[in-house]
Amino acid sequence: MTNKDKKSWTIDDSDKLYQVSQWGEGYFEINEKGNLSVNPERKENGPRIDVAEVIEEMKLQGISFPAVIRFHDILWSQVVSINETFKSVIEDEGYQGKYLGVYPIKVNQMREVVEEIVAAGAPYNFGLEAGSKPELMAVLAYNDNPGALTVLNGYKDDEYMRLAMLGRKLGRKVIVVVEKLSELDRLLKISKEFDVPPLIGLRCKMSYKSTGKWSDSSGDRAKFGLTVTEILLAVERLRQEDLLDSLQLFHYHIGSQITDIKCVKETISEAARIYAKLVKLGVDMRYIDVGGGLAIDYDGSKSTGQSSMNYTMSQYIADIVYGIKQVCDAENVRHPDIVSESGRAITAQHSCVVTNVVDIIDSKKNEWDVTPSAGEHQLVKNVREFLGTLDQDNYKEVYDDARQVRDDALQAFKLGILSLEDRAKVETLFWKASQRVLEFSRKEDFVSESVGELEDTLAAQYLCNFSIFQSAADHWAIGQLLPVLPLTKLHQAPTRQCTIADITCDSDGKISKFIGNDEVRRTIQLHEIKPGDEYVIGMFLTGAYQDVMGDMHNLFGRLNEVHVFSDDDDPTDFYIEEVIRGASMANVLSTMQYTPEYMAHMVKRTIGKLIKNGEMNAREGVRLTDFYEDSLKSYTYLDYN
Ligand SMILES: *Cc1c(COP(=O)(O)O)cnc(C)c1O
Repeated sequence: MTNKDKKSWTIDDSDKLYQVSQWGEGYFEINEKGNLSVNPERKENGPRIDVAEVIEEMKLQGISFPAVIRFHDILWSQVVSINETFKSVIEDEGYQGKYLGVYPIKVNQMREVVEEIVAAGAPYNFGLEAGSKPELMAVLAYNDNPGALTVLNGYKDDEYMRLAMLGRKLGRKVIVVVEKLSELDRLLKISKEFDVPPLIGLRCKMSYKSTGKWSDSSGDRAKFGLTVTEILLAVERLRQEDLLDSLQLFHYHIGSQITDIKCVKETISEAARIYAKLVKLGVDMRYIDVGGGLAIDYDGSKSTGQSSMNYTMSQYIADIVYGIKQVCDAENVRHPDIVSESGRAITAQHSCVVTNVVDIIDSKKNEWDVTPSAGEHQLVKNVREFLGTLDQDNYKEVYDDARQVRDDALQAFKLGILSLEDRAKVETLFWKASQRVLEFSRKEDFVSESVGELEDTLAAQYLCNFSIFQSAADHWAIGQLLPVLPLTKLHQAPTRQCTIADITCDSDGKISKFIGNDEVRRTIQLHEIKPGDEYVIGMFLTGAYQDVMGDMHNLFGRLNEVHVFSDDDDPTDFYIEEVIRGASMANVLSTMQYTPEYMAHMVKRTIGKLIKNGEMNAREGVRLTDFYEDSLKSYTYLDYN
């Protein structure tokens, strides 16, 4: 990068580099100060929350990195958005049913998240979905709107069914979705026990196999759902019991993050057809539930790539409404109410993880003196020679030769022929040569594989205070891309190629896949930082799954959290409504069956003995005991302040 480039760098260049406009969906933008800013209502004149100001305020309140920031207004906006879009498409198409969505809480079960969604969805009778007994417990308590649906998926035992019937007793529209035939008998038995007619849904295995990471949720080998044969058997069974009226919902879910709109269209036409045929068999169902799958464009590429989608929320909704209408009109049956179970699309944008760079790992920066000296080995001279002859025309060949000599030198060292100092010289000279090679290669469109790898090898590792396993499980597990960028300095040119390492003792603990212009990049461009500078980066779109799936690898626990609400009357356009402290060391140790009190007792006992034997003075002993006890109460992450 030339000096001129650096000088003329603007926030638009940062926007292009980090693709903020592409993945931000109107919620995120870069402001004039060069800071990342949130536009939680997506309005031209709406409030703007400068993330750097949120971080300032966090500091005033003594909240350290890493932290989760939740923008509650984004959650609110997404709930309104999906409901309003369904409403307007339904009106435009002259569709006769309603939309009655539910939020599947497995995507983010945080109480505050669920409460916000229930509140925002109240005018639309937006409900909740549960897939396990503990989720059902939460849903029974929090979905108290009698007009909203409660949809129950997942495998169910008797207790699950009883809890569902308790919901019916409470006057809720609790629909038990039968995932396998044996559940139907269980449900019928228990509803008789409770003397309340059940509301039943049938989950169907769809024949169209979706694409993407979660495609196993559809097709013949899917774990959940009934075949068409089984659906007919279920209908017969209910007819015998005179309970056909209870059968109200036709359900399918073909997997999360559907990247291709073609899947949505194919499946809805199959589903609507099965629904219509069932109605004609005398099953007067009221609802079609299209499940989840509405994707998030994590990398902003608008493609069918795994972390993207080739459609918008509006297109998705239009295809569903239109698809059902077309089939129902052709079959001459009533338009059903439409249920969807979008989780990812509602929650992903509302939360992000912010943290600081605590160190830079760049061993190639530390150089050994390479001036020629008497008695140095011929191999050292050879590498030095390569460095001298490098130019734009020969760099590829020279680099390959230099690699060979470097390998020879390592071999020579192992045989005892090369001294430690000479080995250090070879390393330093080789990295200097590599640096030059990289500069030459950047001027060309195509580079050889060995030279291409240099970009990664020479990239600095910015060590960030967080754990990938806790905060971005899907990046580690399935290579999910998440937008990462600095939160400030976005009006300045970032001049270093980097990867991001976390603080776990695991070589997998890193981010080495980044979004780029239509490609996955192995490095990210970040700013130079001087010692003492604070440099804060954010990882975005972590509100769905990542927020709640993290594990405690290395015993790094849950993060500090701040809940931000927008407020147009405040000079900063926001206020922090709530702070939730992250896990302390005692907390995470307790979950692993340790007893912190006992641990403190053991340390104290050892110190007591030392004092008794005269090996430590009492004052120091007390101080060290207190230090251990205080540490148990502190945060699990690094504190470099
Ligand atoms: C996980 C799940 C969802 C949520 O899917 P998203 O793609 O996150 O919207 C919906 N329904 C069922 C049955 C699920 O298992």
